[in-house]
Amino acid sequence: MPRTIIVSNRLPTKVQRTPDGLTFQPSEGGLATGLGSIYRQEGNVWVGWPGLFLEDVTEEQYITEALRGDSMAPVFLTESEILDYYEGFSNSTLWPTFHYFPQFATYEPAHWAAYVAVNEKFCQAVLAQAGPEDTIWVHDYQLMLLPALLRAARPEATIGFFLHIPFPSYELLRVLPWRTELLLGLLGADLVGFHTFGYMRHFLSAVTHLLGHSTTNGMIETPTRTVLVDAFPMGIDYDRFVEAAASDEAIRHEAIYRQALSTSRIVLSIDRLDYTKGIAQRLLAFELLLLRYPEWVGQVSLIMVVVPSRDQVPQYASLKQEIDELVGRINAQFRTIGWNPIHYFYRSFPLEELASLYRLAEVALVTPMRDGMNLVAKEFIASKADGRGVLILSERAGAARELSDALLINPTDLVGHAEALHQALVMPEDEQAQRLDAMRALVKRYNVFSWTRLFMNQLTYSKMKQHTLATDFLSPAAIDRLVADYRAAPRRLLLLDYDGTLTGFHPDPQRAEPDFELRLLLRALADNPQNRVVVISGRDRTTLQKWLGDLPIDFIAEHGVWLRPPARSGSCSRP
Ligand code: UDP
Repeated sequence: MPRTIIVSNRLPTKVQRTPDGLTFQPSEGGLATGLGSIYRQEGNVWVGWPGLFLEDVTEEQYITEALRGDSMAPVFLTESEILDYYEGFSNSTLWPTFHYFPQFATYEPAHWAAYVAVNEKFCQAVLAQAGPEDTIWVHDYQLMLLPALLRAARPEATIGFFLHIPFPSYELLRVLPWRTELLLGLLGADLVGFHTFGYMRHFLSAVTHLLGHSTTNGMIETPTRTVLVDAFPMGIDYDRFVEAAASDEAIRHEAIYRQALSTSRIVLSIDRLDYTKGIAQRLLAFELLLLRYPEWVGQVSLIMVVVPSRDQVPQYASLKQEIDELVGRINAQFRTIGWNPIHYFYRSFPLEELASLYRLAEVALVTPMRDGMNLVAKEFIASKADGRGVLILSERAGAARELSDALLINPTDLVGHAEALHQALVMPEDEQAQRLDAMRALVKRYNVFSWTRLFMNQLTYSKMKQHTLATDFLSPAAIDRLVADYRAAPRRLLLLDYDGTLTGFHPDPQRAEPDFELRLLLRALADNPQNRVVVISGRDRTTLQKWLGDLPIDFIAEHGVWLRPPARSGSCSRP
């Protein structure tokens, strides 16, 4: 039975070295939950890096064995591979470029070489698991070359790829020296998925510009195969967040926070530390709110959770410093003895505490400069069972395409941002409920499980579509039968397509003229009184007349609009 193999840079379990030995900590992320229903099924497996560097082969064997029981197969990476492939090419070249921060991108040939080598390493690890006709679902920007590498080794496999970050416009992509290789890597897949139609359109346009492939309705015609491209906005585990927000623990935590805070009007923001998240702009907008509407001073507090991330990288370290300074400045300027404008946490929270923060907050500020999707926005919506709360969302987050009932803002427009905050704080309850209800219905329906299902169904469909579009060559027996039937028939109607049949396709259609040999063949067929030869083409009649008009054949030109009957007059008539 064909198996399904999930591949991502990281496994959904984090292996750590502690004084007591190696520990295994399952990830609670949405992706792991959504794909759990697939990789845990009998025979299926998830391939990825377990998150630590190994000291010896014994450890390698121990980890491989321990993970096997939970349907995982580790790819072991060295420290220098992680430095060049992950922190280098993935996070210092692809991440800034794809998020429209090319000024932060580096273009190191050594990082590219490591990216190629690690993608090949992943390929070997997948091939060790995959049979010739298995389904392989590759995830994210660290593994963009993998689909083509797998395709070369397993031509019949069903391969899907999903990009979890934005796909930039062609103008951004073309900055990369390795843009063509990256596109060709993705085109090894049968289905390439993105969060939004916008990202999908950018990809299709890049494929047309850089590779010259034609695309129709999300189908790319490569010289060898058809590749389907589609949008699948990723969702959350909706029920889990509803339950967490309704749990006794979340209610208890909320009560403790409320008691400690001097105001009940809470605005919440939660992000990883990243320059794409617009954290500094958000602080400035909050400051502007207090300046433009002094009535909120002493009344509203911002709880800002920033989860530490990549803070060894210089850009992240200086962003951290900028945020620290801004928080310090705003708090120093506005605070009173009993009230703090900003409660800033530089750490991560477990789900139960996040749920209590979602309950506590009246307004969620999700204002990235660029974000593939943004799940915090959806988690806030799911947690608001009482129909009270307002989401302020950046129009540049993938989630904005779905959550159009949020207050949508442009994060660089500080005035608009501050005004949206004010609008959220004074929004009537019935309007809050109306907006939230519409968004809850959507987040509930398009959850992470339906996302997984939709992608897998479309992957099956893409394979089916390829089979219907594939060229079937005549077998020798069929050729013999065709020839025998032709000889035996007293009269024959020969309907011949022109481009792609009588001649090959040419980049300049006007140069796909019939050659001498073709004209000779058509004349020989048409001169036989038992034959009627018809050339069918979408081309204009003038061209067909010019190229084949002197032959005793019929035309069906201009997609059937013009017919030339066997009359040898040489003129075309309406049907
Ligand atoms: N998150 C968490 N603990 C925290 C803060 C955030 O587990 O203290 C989770 C949050 O619930 C969400 C994820 O981190 O599921 C962030 O995902 P998002 O798509 O918003 O941003 P990303 O970090 O993937 O860019």
